[in-house]
Amino acid sequence: MHFAITKDQQAVYDAAREFGAREVFPTVLERDKHERWDDALWKKMAAAGLVGAPFPEVYGGTGLSALETCLAQEGFVHGGHDGGLAMAWGASTILCGVPIWKLGTEAQKQRYLPKMCSGEWLGAFCLSEAGSGSDAAAMKTRAVKQGEKYILNGSKMWITNGPIAHHFVVTAVTEPEAKAFGISTFLVDADSPGFKVGQRIEKMGMNTSKTAEILFEDCEVPEENLLGDLNSGFVGTAKLILGWERSTMLAGALGGQRANIDTVCRYANERVQFNRPIAKFQAVRHMIADMQIRYEIGRNLIHRVAYQLDSMNDGGDDPPLVDAAVAKVQVSEAAQKTARDAIQVLGGVGYTKEYHVERSLRDAILTTIGAGSSEIQRGIIARSELEIGF
Ligand SMILES: Cc1cc2nc3c(=O)[nH]c(=O)nc-3n(C[C@H](O)[C@H](O)[C@H](O)COP(=O)(O)OP(=O)(O)OC[C@H]3O[C@@H](n4cnc5c(N)ncnc54)[C@H](O)[C@@H]3O)c2cc1C
Repeated sequence: MHFAITKDQQAVYDAAREFGAREVFPTVLERDKHERWDDALWKKMAAAGLVGAPFPEVYGGTGLSALETCLAQEGFVHGGHDGGLAMAWGASTILCGVPIWKLGTEAQKQRYLPKMCSGEWLGAFCLSEAGSGSDAAAMKTRAVKQGEKYILNGSKMWITNGPIAHHFVVTAVTEPEAKAFGISTFLVDADSPGFKVGQRIEKMGMNTSKTAEILFEDCEVPEENLLGDLNSGFVGTAKLILGWERSTMLAGALGGQRANIDTVCRYANERVQFNRPIAKFQAVRHMIADMQIRYEIGRNLIHRVAYQLDSMNDGGDDPPLVDAAVAKVQVSEAAQKTARDAIQVLGGVGYTKEYHVERSLRDAILTTIGAGSSEIQRGIIARSELEIGF
């Protein structure tokens, strides 16, 4: 076992970081303030190979491994310091694109992936509903087969990219008596009859991404838009996504930590109080050391999950769910603690917008809630240790 990042992998990180610093960082404060989505920026991300990072080149992707995709995502947020845009990337590329790539028919892959990779089409993922977040399998959205179509009725809540996406990976109940084993996944285009974007949702953070409720009112979906096997939507699609979102998407929270550590170190060396830089005070040094310790632990946990994804035999091996849960809890809680401590080290200016640390905290608060809360992750970890199954 060796832990080194190769030169090529480091180059992926550096390129994403430089792109983030050059293209993303200069406008992030303004986009956060006005909750503005920047489509031209998304297309630049696509041209830089970020949007199609993990997909094979034959579909227009960059062909990065899961580990390299983590590095790209971390570098992107390190340079750009934009958690919201990273989340939009995760919702499109990972939550929507990975199921198409891994579970889709050749026709589905050909239809969606090249236009996603080029930035022309943005995707989204619809699992959560107003009444079913953590208990996602309790969803009420129904899909009923009628001739050569499925008719969807119901609504999905808090959907990232909801108001701007071209298509949606949607989970819906196809066999109510079978509970979690009676849920299927569909590809639904935003121009499908009966598809509507509901209320736009204002948020505390992640404001450079857009969030909305999605409504299905007798929404017509052609039968060829079933994604994966019938009734495998929860046990198949959701399980597939968990490892990917809790490594490649979560890596954005690592990039946020890295950016905050850089900011804090610069500031602590420059800011003079009591005739010396505040970096001379042990209390400040210990906060910085703890930030770095949390960052290194999280990075290793995420890379372990990514390594397992890269080593997996598709369709055969189970995804590393417990390792992914451990990574999710550690990295998300570390992101919050580090953002909070960064504000503390910066003092009064940390509480202002100028150094980006207050926005970083607002963004980081979502990470212990979305994609499975810390409480749900701890449940997964404890059940595994107690050997009482899922
Ligand atoms: C900005 C944003 C973007 C999002 N994007 C998407 C998206 O693109 N697609 C999508 O499908 N969803 C999305 N979500 C939804 C997100 O995944 C859910 O909010 C999350 O799963 C938590 O569900 P909930 O909000 O219903 O909380 P609840 O499930 O109601 O939980 C409330 C509290 O109870 C705790 N709790 C619940 N069950 C248990 C238990 N068994 N044991 C211990 N504690 C428990 C939780 O940990 C939490 O603290 C997004 C949410 C937000 C806020």
